[in-house]
Amino acid sequence: MNYRHAYHAGNIGDVLKHAVLARLILYFQRKDKGFRIIDTHAGIGRYDLSSEETQKTGEWQQGIGKILSADMPSPVADLLAPWLNVIQELNPDGNLNHYPGSPDLARHLMRKNDRLTLTELHPADFKTLSDLFAGDYQVKTIHLDGWMALGSFLPPKEKRGLVLIDPAFEVTDEFDRMTAAVVKGWKKWSSGTFALWYPMKDARAIRKMHETFREAGLRDVLTLELNVGKSGPDTKMLGSGMTLVNPPYTLADEMRLILPWFCDVLHQGPGTSWNVSQLISE
Ligand code: SAM
Repeated sequence: MNYRHAYHAGNIGDVLKHAVLARLILYFQRKDKGFRIIDTHAGIGRYDLSSEETQKTGEWQQGIGKILSADMPSPVADLLAPWLNVIQELNPDGNLNHYPGSPDLARHLMRKNDRLTLTELHPADFKTLSDLFAGDYQVKTIHLDGWMALGSFLPPKEKRGLVLIDPAFEVTDEFDRMTAAVVKGWKKWSSGTFALWYPMKDARAIRKMHETFREAGLRDVLTLELNVGKSGPDTKMLGSGMTLVNPPYTLADEMRLILPWFCDVLHQGPGTSWNVSQLISE
């Protein structure tokens, strides 16, 4: 396992993923009943943007760095506020030093009756992650293959919640693994919300995954895309997408406001585009 998310924290992919994650959590909180978030590929939880790794790539400067220094129209500011407020809480002096990964973001947004299950396979990253949440009874950290989590932990006992699937894409069959795991997970919990993130580098693999979802009978599937330039298999990652199974009914319209603004602020060249599509109807 060579991938370390510290090199990529706060980049354009994280911007899409974390903006969506915050909107999902906010939606679940419309009801008082507690829910569970399962983050299958958790990373270390929180990132130090002054670390050697983040400094080396500086990817966050093209992502969250640009978001925080841009003027935001009020509908977008309202929608992004829950996510950006967490970043502000972690950086009270106004300098951006700490960036919340998906576990830290989820934890900050959770209420007393919400729960978080985190799996991470990299031994050193798991140690950092479990130290961050040591003693926190609302968070369970497990040193486990995230693909197993979909088999073992579904449905959660709360019967409400979401599964975030955010793999490292360092092995060639990651799309196949993700596809198989989601179909299996959905069969165990067909009312659960599944949120999958992936780089927009291999259009064929993404099409194949979506085709398999159709064939397997999944319903209510939404896709989102954010490209800040034109990326391909051999270029750096300039775009990412998410597929959501059973998304909140509010999400598509929210993303139709957020994504054009992300394109304005994050664009790096020709090919900048966004998309929101209902892939499979309810
Ligand atoms: N979700 C995190 C966030 O938004 O802050 C970032 C996750 S990062 C893209 C992917 C993580 O998956 C890495 O930390 C990597 O070590 C871990 N990983 C890779 N293969 C895994 C597996 N089979 N099971 C669990 N974690 C895995």
